Amino acid sequence: MSDKAPNGKKKMAVGWFSFTCCEDSTVLFTELLNENYDEWRKLVNFQHVKALKTDNKLEGLDVAFVEGAISAPSQEKELKEIRANAKYLVAIGSCASTGLPSASRNEFSEDDKTDRIRWYFETFDYGEKVKRLDEVVKVDDYVKGCPMNVDVFLGVLTKYLQKFGLVDKDVTS
Ligand code: SF4
Repeated sequence: MSDKAPNGKKKMAVGWFSFTCCEDSTVLFTELLNENYDEWRKLVNFQHVKALKTDNKLEGLDVAFVEGAISAPSQEKELKEIRANAKYLVAIGSCASTGLPSASRNEFSEDDKTDRIRWYFETFDYGEKVKRLDEVVKVDDYVKGCPMNVDVFLGVLTKYLQKFGLVDKDVTS
């Protein structure tokens, strides 16, 4: 398929990423694709979407949509790589935007830490604290909600399609 949109501009290269979360916004995103894929693919290059395909490329993203909170040093590193490869980065959902509910463990007292919880901390590479995205990288836009507010997401998507000269009016409604 051509990498050009019908108006001759380069399609917007998009990535969709998930960190510590339940991935409900990813489910919503795939539901939106069920309805909109034929139209969106004329304007969007879904360049890095692991939920949809295995052939993914990080370099040269226009917009990275990132769901979930950051709970491990390895995730911080990966998020910084995404940021370095994307012109814009959008936090998707409450966990990415505010940390919660994924960051609930930040509030654990010593008494809350059962043997099982301690086992998780000792066995896996967890950070001291679960972080929202903007504690690690610059975030350009937020789509809050648990899961994400679909109308706000469509508004943000349209904003970037307009910014890249691909639409001059709302094509998502
Ligand atoms: S914000 Fe809600 S829906 Fe989204 S990942 Fe977190 S818990 Fe799941």
